[in-house]
Amino acid sequence: MQFKEIIGQEATKQRLINSVTENRVSHAQLFLGPEGAGGLALAVAYAQYLSCEDKQPDDSCGVCSSCRKYQKLMHPDLHFSYPFFAKHKDDTALTFIEQWRNAFTANPYLSLDLWRGYLDADNKQANINIAECHQIIKKLSFKPFESAYKILILWLPEYLDKEGNALLKVIEEPQPNTLFLLVAQNQDQILNTILSRTQLIKVPCLNYEDIKTELMNRHHQTETAASQIAYLSNGNMTEALGMLQHDTKSYHELFVQWLRLCFGNKGLEILSFVDNAAKMGRENQKNFLRYGTSFIRECCLIRAGAERIVKLPAQEMETAKKMAAVINNAMAQAIITELEKAHYHIERNANPKILFLDVSLQIIKVLNLKTVPAGNHYIPN
Ligand SMILES: [Zn+2]
Repeated sequence: MQFKEIIGQEATKQRLINSVTENRVSHAQLFLGPEGAGGLALAVAYAQYLSCEDKQPDDSCGVCSSCRKYQKLMHPDLHFSYPFFAKHKDDTALTFIEQWRNAFTANPYLSLDLWRGYLDADNKQANINIAECHQIIKKLSFKPFESAYKILILWLPEYLDKEGNALLKVIEEPQPNTLFLLVAQNQDQILNTILSRTQLIKVPCLNYEDIKTELMNRHHQTETAASQIAYLSNGNMTEALGMLQHDTKSYHELFVQWLRLCFGNKGLEILSFVDNAAKMGRENQKNFLRYGTSFIRECCLIRAGAERIVKLPAQEMETAKKMAAVINNAMAQAIITELEKAHYHIERNANPKILFLDVSLQIIKVLNLKTVPAGNHYIPN
């Protein structure tokens, strides 16, 4: 993985390169950023840069023997650790290395959800077990074979549990030329003992323009489609790539049609909408509900006179303005709450038919009776 393959994050890339050229590489670093920001990709590119035999001012060379091994994640001085689902008590990350290489190569913006798909996970808890911690200590006790550095990239130290304390000694007093790169998403869930021993590299979430440009350039999306996905993904490239596999173009039309049916209280047509929505598939349903939530939020921004920060394509903007004229803030809030609740339940395998029918009934109430269902907070207009 080279830096140039990573979306945005120019300041972070520069900081990492400077640490190498200025010879102040810290032996334990924590890449901390939300899902889809590219923390894992950055750590791999950084490791490749450190080991490259012909470093360029702004990237690894990509062609030397070290880079070629890194490209396949098969360098003898590169090690990975990550959460997995142990079938036997002595399973370690190495048991799943083939799946790991396939998963990262297919998508460097890997999420734990996607990673589960590569493992035979059932409903087991992912973690990094004590056998794996011992394996890490063992791996790091050898000198580097080929490169200046032996590097261990530990993805999601949040899943270390208390076992992580076994690693403190190798983090604190590492062998010479040994680097420990941790890649995390939630600072609160990392053992404090580990946190306090690492240098923090913050990886901010991506901005709208970076994601939009990436989708247009590398994924051949039209400007409208790229804008819509970038907008829905909230700076999360993992989400954006996931949405590419579904049809997002129709969300707007479908959502507006749904609101119109609810507004007109058209029972039979609502039933037919519910039938169709139930067949959309879970990921698609979640994206659709997320689209609805974002769209109503934009309507609120228009109502508040903040139209210039609304990021909707022209045609959707027109509809949003009309919508902003007929709903008040309390109604908008009530609809958002219903959509978010539905999203929550879809994730937990609710029956989509019952769910979409129920949400429709709640929205009918909100739009027609201008009352807010119980449990929602009424925000005065
Ligand atoms: Zn190289």
